[in-house]
Amino acid sequence: MHKISGQRDPAAAFTLPALRDDASERRQANRAVAVSAAGLAVTGITELLIAVLTGSVGLLGDAIHNLSDVSTSAVVFLGFRLSRRGPTERYPYGLDRAEDLAGIGIAVVIWASAAFAGYESVRKLIAHGATGHIWIGIAGAVLGIVGNQAVARYKLATGKRIRSATLIADARHSWLDALSSAGALAGLVAVALGRRWGDPVAGIAVTMFICHVGYDVTTDVVRRLADSVDPQIVAAAEAAAGELPGVVHAHARARWTGRRLRVEVEAWVHPGLTARESDALGRTAAAAVRDQVPDVDSFTWATRAAPA
Ligand SMILES: [Zn+2]
Repeated sequence: MHKISGQRDPAAAFTLPALRDDASERRQANRAVAVSAAGLAVTGITELLIAVLTGSVGLLGDAIHNLSDVSTSAVVFLGFRLSRRGPTERYPYGLDRAEDLAGIGIAVVIWASAAFAGYESVRKLIAHGATGHIWIGIAGAVLGIVGNQAVARYKLATGKRIRSATLIADARHSWLDALSSAGALAGLVAVALGRRWGDPVAGIAVTMFICHVGYDVTTDVVRRLADSVDPQIVAAAEAAAGELPGVVHAHARARWTGRRLRVEVEAWVHPGLTARESDALGRTAAAAVRDQVPDVDSFTWATRAAPA
C-alpha cells in the first residue's frame, strides 16, 4: 500500500477541513476540565487530611477516589500537550501514544490505592477501630458531596453549551461520585449514633467505587493500545468513500493513537483514472469521510485499479 505524504504530518495524505468553531469549543472544554480538576484536587486533599486526623477509612477511600479522577484528567492534559508536538524523524507519528503510556501508570496507581483503602477498611472492621473528631469527619464528607455536585453542574452546563457528549458523561460521573461521598457520610453518621462498624463498612463500599474507576481506566488503555475502534467508524468511512463516483469498492481501517483518530481507505477505482484524478478523488473522499466521521484527524488514501 502506498502513501501520499502531506507536509506537516507524514501519515496524513490530505489536510482535513477545520470544523466550525472547533478551536473555541476545545478551549472551553479544556477550561471546564481544568477548573473541575482543580476543584476536585482541593476537595480530595482536604478530605485526605481530615481522614488522617479522624482515622476515617470511608473518607480515606473517598479522598483517594477524587484524587484518582484528578490524575486521569491530568493524563488527558498531558496527552493534549504532547500530541501538539509535531512528528520527528524518530517519532514519525508524533507523541500521541504518550497518553496511553501514562494511562498504564495511572491504572497501576489506582489499583494500588484501591487495595490500600480496602485493606485499611477491612483491618479497621476486624479491629473494631475507633473514629475521632467525628463532626470534622462529617464536614469532610459533606465537602466531598458539595465539591462533586458543584463540578457536575459546571461540567453539565458547559457540556450542554458546546454540545460535548464527553463533558456531559463526565458530569454524570461526578454526580455519581457525590454518592460515594454520601456513602462516607452515612458511615460517619452511623458512628456518631454509636455504630463503630459504620465507617469501615462505608470504606469497603467506597473502595468498590475506586475499583470501578480502575476498571474504566484499564479497559480504556488496553483497548487503545490494542488498536480497538468503534466498528461503526469503519463502516461509515467505507460507506462514505464507496459511494463516490469512480470508486468501485472501498476498504477502510481506523485506529486511535492517543486522542488522534487515523482512518486509512484503500479504494479500487476505475482503471482508466489518471494519477491527478485519483488525487482529486482522494480529496473528495477525505471531505466525505470527515462529514460522516467528524473525529477523524488523519486520512490516508490509497488507490488500486479495479479489475476491468
Ligand atoms: Zn469518580
